[in-house]
Amino acid sequence: MNTIAVVGAGIVGLAVARSLAERGHRVQLYDPGPPGEGTSFGNAGLIANYATSPMASIDTLRQLPGELCRRDASLSVDPRYLARLAGFGPRFLKAATPSRFARHKSDLVALIQDAVKAQHALLESLEAPDLYADTGCLQLARQGDPLAATLEASARAKRADGVACEALTAQEVRDLEPAIHPADLVGGLYFPETRHLKDSLAVSRALWKRLEGQGVVQHGLRIKRLVPHATGGWRLIGENGENGESAEYQADQVVLCAGIANDALLKSLGVSMPVVSERGYHVRLETPLALSRPVGWLARHFYATPMQGGVRLAGTTEFTAPDRAADERRWERLKGWGEALFGQPLSLAERWMGVRHSTPDGLPVVGQVTGREGLFVAYGHGHLGLTQSAHTGELIAAMIHGETLPDYVASLSPARF
Ligand SMILES: Cc1cc2nc3c(=O)[nH]c(=O)nc-3n(C[C@H](O)[C@H](O)[C@H](O)COP(=O)(O)OP(=O)(O)OC[C@H]3O[C@@H](n4cnc5c(N)ncnc54)[C@H](O)[C@@H]3O)c2cc1C
Repeated sequence: MNTIAVVGAGIVGLAVARSLAERGHRVQLYDPGPPGEGTSFGNAGLIANYATSPMASIDTLRQLPGELCRRDASLSVDPRYLARLAGFGPRFLKAATPSRFARHKSDLVALIQDAVKAQHALLESLEAPDLYADTGCLQLARQGDPLAATLEASARAKRADGVACEALTAQEVRDLEPAIHPADLVGGLYFPETRHLKDSLAVSRALWKRLEGQGVVQHGLRIKRLVPHATGGWRLIGENGENGESAEYQADQVVLCAGIANDALLKSLGVSMPVVSERGYHVRLETPLALSRPVGWLARHFYATPMQGGVRLAGTTEFTAPDRAADERRWERLKGWGEALFGQPLSLAERWMGVRHSTPDGLPVVGQVTGREGLFVAYGHGHLGLTQSAHTGELIAAMIHGETLPDYVASLSPARF
């Protein structure tokens, strides 16, 4: 029985550990903190079956200058981060060309279909149906939003991708969600089959509890360095999250699921990937709102998701260094946009910021690192790491077992960069 080290206990690392433990491997999980408290803590909770279009597209490029110039921008690029974006930017532009976009989109459509099935199965395996809801989701179109002019066509395009979707009038939106204020509302897209989590952290915790029961062990270590053994396998050198003492472990194979922190671990091995930090924010509302399903306002890049403890407004996009202090104005913007959507003053119970790890082509990086036998990466999931986590685990396990993989897996390989 192989020992496999999984570095990072976010939703991706936990799902990878689950797939490997189910195959009978001895799995050791490394994370200085408790499972699920990184980026996986604060997402919008959507199992995003509708997310069939990569961000790099001609449409995005057309909208970009206007987006960046808005005073209350939801999307921003920190000039101090431009050097780090040097490997990402040109690839993003290339990925937006029609032929590349079409290829990435067809990969993403197939990937998302598999991912959603796997994620639903993972959630159902936890036998805790109160952790999620199958109430669908809405994407709103308000006056001036690009979606307002294309509602019917956008619904048709989603259906062509195999996603159940209906274009709704403003009245139909309000029939579903009376809490949405009618001012400026043009209509929306309704995705009846979207599932959402009611508590992202509770899902990670429930999954971790299962894993502990299957004999998976967590070491509270921040891994600093990986060293290949001459005879095969890896040494993991880390620092205890509590007392700072260093420690070393061994494994036959390693899967890096430490989010953006994978970059430093890979760099120490001379490997670099154009995966960048795209931060997002959330606020949890203290003000009670009667909302039955997530409601997205994509022109402002956020969702309002009903969760245990209140409605969470989660989203926005900020390309900047992962460790820079949070931009507090973003919480205020989320609050202001929430007030516009719900037509009432809102007060906040929680403010949070986390780091997405994003690739230029909108596809994650899942596979063995070229030339590094037994070293796998699973990151770069961008806006879709929750949705894709269970399937990422299945793919990593299938790769380790040398099984036949879906065609699109070639597009996820670290070697594509
Ligand atoms: C605002 C926002 C909204 C989002 N909404 C959605 C959504 O609705 N649907 C969706 O599918 N996705 C969504 N996402 C994306 C999703 O949350 C992420 O893709 C996902 O959580 C990434 O999980 P992860 O396990 O890779 O990373 P993380 O949860 O960050 O886990 C990485 C773990 O690695 C650990 N770590 C770091 N360095 C080391 C080290 N050196 N050694 C050991 N451990 C280490 C960290 O402590 C952490 O626990 C959203 C993201 C944001 C920011």
